[in-house]
Amino acid sequence: MKVKIKDLPTIKINKNNLFENLTIISKKAKDINKIAVVLKDNAYGHGLEEMAKLTSEYGIKKAVVRDLREAHIIKDYFSEILVLAQTDFKELIHSYSHTFHIVLNSVEHIEKLPQNIKVHIKVNSGMNRNGIEQNELESCIYGLLKKNIQICGVMTHYKNADTLGSEYYVQKQHFNHTKFITNKLCEELSIPTPMFHSCNSAGLFRCENFDEDMARVGIASYGYLDDNNVFDFPKLKPVLSLWASRISTRELKENESVGYGGTYTTDKKITISTYDLGYGNGFQRINENQEYFTRDGYRVLGRVSMDNLSLNTNDNEVCIFDDARNLAKIHNTISYEIVTSLSPFIKKVIE
Ligand SMILES: *Cc1c(COP(=O)(O)O)cnc(C)c1O
Repeated sequence: MKVKIKDLPTIKINKNNLFENLTIISKKAKDINKIAVVLKDNAYGHGLEEMAKLTSEYGIKKAVVRDLREAHIIKDYFSEILVLAQTDFKELIHSYSHTFHIVLNSVEHIEKLPQNIKVHIKVNSGMNRNGIEQNELESCIYGLLKKNIQICGVMTHYKNADTLGSEYYVQKQHFNHTKFITNKLCEELSIPTPMFHSCNSAGLFRCENFDEDMARVGIASYGYLDDNNVFDFPKLKPVLSLWASRISTRELKENESVGYGGTYTTDKKITISTYDLGYGNGFQRINENQEYFTRDGYRVLGRVSMDNLSLNTNDNEVCIFDDARNLAKIHNTISYEIVTSLSPFIKKVIE
């Protein structure tokens, strides 16, 4: 039995692919300054700070995160950071920075917000998740102005931008009316009109002629604008690949089993190795009725353990995947969940 000193699993970030995706996105938005790269949840598993550094190096000036913790980590890389879902309003008093734009998700939050901050009002247009209702817009604007809060943006979010059907257009029309009401109120109150934004990745690429002030682009930056042949979406390139290192190797005879539960049994003599990756790193267990093959065609044998999995090879380093779509299919989920589940503790290497 050969034993190797344990390396850590590694996420490799392909800078060229990222930059190619950002070029395609910039062209679609017609202005690089209109792109806000969505870096929430550890940049969809790609590494918050690494992706902030790279996207700002490319020239992106705006970012979107989930909360203040993430906003502070990337503060030095962007001139505007939209914070989607800060729920601890006390923290907002203590650690607000003038580059942070806070999303207002509910009328109830107005009284909890500190004075003099920058806010984007989210208006519910049919997703029924977060946001105020259109008929609350007027009282909401008054409430914010009373607290000297700057209304920098009015936004909405699509529930169905990536699926065929009319709902995307229904929401778009609803948001057009939101724009109309906002413009009218701002004129009456002699306050500057805020920026308007509604598009996520799929929303942006479904626009025939993008004309809003900003687009919030997440998954497309990472290379996964799902190409379902319905829309003429561009071919993007996955940015992340996941690598594991060999821990140990052994020979198995015919009719021996591998791992917990012994769910895989050999049908001939084979060489197998264990690699330093498991569900503890966010690489989920694979359903026993499914077969998963790595990029180079090695099969995951038996159950994935917490810190290990077994493959029919003895390569020292194996690319577990460089396209999350295959795994997404096996897990009956979407590429977003596969990459976002990866542990933030996995080492990142930029290539
Ligand atoms: C996550 C998120 C996005 C980005 O969506 P993608 O489909 O990854 O482009 C945009 N806007 C809001 C409000 C979000 O929560």
